[in-house]
Amino acid sequence: MLMKKNRKWFLALIPALCAMVIITVMLLQPEEETPPYSQVIGYFETDDIQNYSLNITTGELSAELRDGNALTYTVPDIDLFISQTEPVVTEYNAAHPDSQIIFDYVSASQNGQLLSGLPYLILLAAGATWVILRYGAGKGNKKRGRMSAFGKIDVGSSVSVKTRKTFEDVAGADEEKEELREIVEFLKEPQKFNGLGARIPKGVLLVGPPGTGKTLIARAVSGEAGVPFFSISGSDFVEMYVGVGAARVRSLFEKAKKLAPCIVFIDEIDAVGRHRGMGSSGSNDEREQTLNQLLVEMDGFETNAGVIIIAATNRADILDPALLRPGRFDRQVYVGVPDIKGREAVLRVHARKKLLSDDVELGEVAKDTVGFTGADLENLLNEAALLAAKRGHPAIGMAEIEESVLKVIAGPEKKSKVISQKEKRLTAYHEAGHALVTSLLPSKKKVQQVSIIPRGRVGGFTLTPPEEDKNFETRNDMLDQICILLGGRAAEEIVLNDISTGASNDIERATAIAHSMVTKFGMSTRLGPVMYNSDKVRARQSSDRISSEIDAEIQGIISSAYEKAVEILTSGIGMLHDVAAYLCQYEKMSGTELRQIIDGEQEDRDALQALS
Ligand code: ADP
Ligand code: MG
Ligand code: ZN
Repeated sequence: MLMKKNRKWFLALIPALCAMVIITVMLLQPEEETPPYSQVIGYFETDDIQNYSLNITTGELSAELRDGNALTYTVPDIDLFISQTEPVVTEYNAAHPDSQIIFDYVSASQNGQLLSGLPYLILLAAGATWVILRYGAGKGNKKRGRMSAFGKIDVGSSVSVKTRKTFEDVAGADEEKEELREIVEFLKEPQKFNGLGARIPKGVLLVGPPGTGKTLIARAVSGEAGVPFFSISGSDFVEMYVGVGAARVRSLFEKAKKLAPCIVFIDEIDAVGRHRGMGSSGSNDEREQTLNQLLVEMDGFETNAGVIIIAATNRADILDPALLRPGRFDRQVYVGVPDIKGREAVLRVHARKKLLSDDVELGEVAKDTVGFTGADLENLLNEAALLAAKRGHPAIGMAEIEESVLKVIAGPEKKSKVISQKEKRLTAYHEAGHALVTSLLPSKKKVQQVSIIPRGRVGGFTLTPPEEDKNFETRNDMLDQICILLGGRAAEEIVLNDISTGASNDIERATAIAHSMVTKFGMSTRLGPVMYNSDKVRARQSSDRISSEIDAEIQGIISSAYEKAVEILTSGIGMLHDVAAYLCQYEKMSGTELRQIIDGEQEDRDALQALS
C-alpha cells in the first residue's frame, strides 16, 4: 500500500519534470539558427547589447539585447572577439555613465569544471539578474567606478586584449599607407570591387627592417577596414614537430574563410618561407611542409574571396620564389626606416601619451636620431619618461631625451655582467683603438662616446655622431671607415700581441665595404670603374681571373688600411695606453675627455720639439 502510494507520487511528478525540461530547453536554445559572426559584432557596434557574459574557456557568449531578446552564441575566436568588442563597450560605458553595458568574463577553470551545463547557466542567469538589479538600476554617477572594476573581474590572463589600430597610429609612412588604401577599400566593400571585376591582390608582402612598423601597419589595415585580424608568426613553427605547422596553417585558413572579409597576417614569414633546398639543418621537413601548406591554401581560394594575406619579413631576398609568384604575394610594399620628417611624426604620435616639458623640441630630437626606427623612437620616449620619473621631474625634459638616445642606440647597459679583468683590458684597448683612429685620421671625425660597458650583444662601442642622412660616400670616406673598423684589432695586436674574436664583426664590415668599393662603385685603381654586379648570374659570368683579381684588390685595400691603423696607433702609443687605462677605470669616456687626452699629448710633443 505504502509503496503504491509512493509510485503514484512519482508518476505525477514525471509530466511536471518533462514540462520543466522542455521549457528550459526552449528558453535556453532559441530555435532560430545561429546568427553570423558579423551580426553578433554588429550588435556591439550599434550598442544594442545590454549585458553579456563570455566564457573565455569555451567561447560561450550569452547576451541580452536592449529590445529584450536574448542571444546565445559560440564565439569562434575568443581573443579576436574580445579585441573587437571590449574597446567598443569600454568606450560606450565611459560615455554613458547611467546606462552601462555590463560585461563579464568567466573562465570555466576558475569556476570549477563541475559548474557546467544547466546549473551553471541558471547560476549565471541569477548572477546576471543580481548584477542588473544591483548596478543597472542604481542612479547617477556613483556607479561608474564600481562598474569598471566589475568589468575587470575574472578576465583570464591568457586573453590578450589589443585595441584597434588605424592609419592614424602609423606615423609617417605615407606611401606605404597609400599603397594599402586600395586593400582597405576592398575589405570594406568587397561587392563593389567584385561588381567592377577589379582584381585585388591576394597577398601583400611588407618588407623592411625590424621595428619599422610592419606589424603595426598590418593591424592598422584591419582596423581601418573594420575586419577581423588573424595572425601567426613564422617563428612559431620553427621548433614544432613535423606536421603541426601545416595543420595550424590549415585551421587558420579555415577560420579565416568563415569570417571573411578578413586579414590573415603572417609575421616573420622568412622563418617558414625560406628558399626550399637552401640552408643547412636537417630539420627542414617541418618548414617545407608548412610552406607547402601555405601555398596550397593561398591557391585554394579564389581571388577576391575576401581573405587578404599580409606577410612581413626583413629578408625578401631569401624567400622561396614560389611565394612571390602571381596569385600569391604578388604585391610588395617596402616599409623603410623613417626620414627626418617621418621621425618627427612618429615622435608626435608617441608623445601624445606623455608629458613633455616646454623645452622639448621634437624636431630637434628627430634631427639627432638618424637611423632610428619607429620602435626605437617609441623606446626612446619610454626611456626618457623612466629617467624623468627616477629624477622626480614632473615632465620629460630635453636632457632626459638626449641621454636616452645613447641608451637606445646601444641597447640597455648591462652593469651586472661580470667580465674578467683580462677581458676588460682587451675591450678597453680595442675601443681605444677605434676611438683614436677615428680622431687621428686626417678627416678628424668626432667621437661622441666610448664605452666598454657591454650593451646588448656588443662588448663595447665607440660612437660617432651621425652627420646627416647620407648613404653616399666618397672613396676616402670609405677607406677611413675601413681603417677605423680595423683600429680595434690593430690596438689589440700592438699592445697585447693577441687577437680577440670580438673583432670579427669589425672585420666582416670592413671587408663588406672594401668589396662594394671594388665591385659596385668601381673605385678600384687596378680594375677600373667597372661594375661587377654581385648577383649570382653575373658573378658566374665574370671569369675566374677577374674574381681572383677582385679578391686581391679587396685584400690590398684591407691590408693597407690595417697598416695605416697600426701606424697611427704606434706613433700615438702613449695616448692608446692613457685612453685604455681611463676606460678600464671609468668604463666610459666622453668625446671631450678623449679630446683632452689627444690635445695634452699634442702639447707635450710641441714642448719637446721646442726643447730640442
Ligand atoms: P615590425 O613589425 O616592423 O618589426 P612593429 O610594427 O612591431 O615593427 O613596431 C613596433 C612598435 O614601434 C609599434 O608597436 C609602434 O609602437 C612603433 N612604431 C613603429 N613604426 C611606427 C610608425 N610609423 N608610427 C608610429 N609608431 C611606430
Ligand atoms: Mg613585427
Ligand atoms: Zn670593434
